[in-house]
Amino acid sequence: MRIKALLLILSSAWLSACQTMPGQVPQTPKPGPKTPPVSFDLSLCNGPSGTLPANNGSKVSRESALACTQGVQYLIAPALNSCLLSGFGPRSNRLHGGIDYQGKGRTAVPVVAAANGIVVINKWRTDLGHWIVLDHGNGIYTGYGHLKNASDKQIGTKVTMNEPLGMMGATGNAADGLHLHVEFRKGVLRQAAHGGYFNLKAFDPYDYPERC
Ligand SMILES: [Zn+2]
Repeated sequence: MRIKALLLILSSAWLSACQTMPGQVPQTPKPGPKTPPVSFDLSLCNGPSGTLPANNGSKVSRESALACTQGVQYLIAPALNSCLLSGFGPRSNRLHGGIDYQGKGRTAVPVVAAANGIVVINKWRTDLGHWIVLDHGNGIYTGYGHLKNASDKQIGTKVTMNEPLGMMGATGNAADGLHLHVEFRKGVLRQAAHGGYFNLKAFDPYDYPERC
């Protein structure tokens, strides 16, 4: 009897030692929603103006240098080695319908195609100087103003993302000096040659996600 009782005590002690309370069970961490890595830091130029996209002090941090609108993925800063000078939105009682970028150190840098596309406008404008517009399909267009010289990309030319379109300049009415004014627009382009481009709706690329 004594041995049986001893065994019973021992086995119950062993059981309780092996049992763990629910809260003590080591948990394997469940994979949560993945935080996208920030790999694109765009610095603000000296004296930025207008409505700036949400920024972290002196820079804009995003997962990447891309944004996606209507299934088209494009570069939001299509000027190499540049900083953000002015954002999209109200500026001096007017709507600034594009984004201004400046070469770091106020240098002229290459302006590149934001995405694959076709040249639909390449002309001189008194306001935008040497001006070129690309059609990226899906009703997405980008326009690049104040280029130093007329782009050598003729109307109908196919371009690929990152392909140089010309050098940043200050042609036309570039009150801020050397900079790229780039526009992102959507809609159906009719009569590109007769200003139909400006009937397209301008949008802020910083409002769109990085990925499609
Ligand atoms: Zn501008």
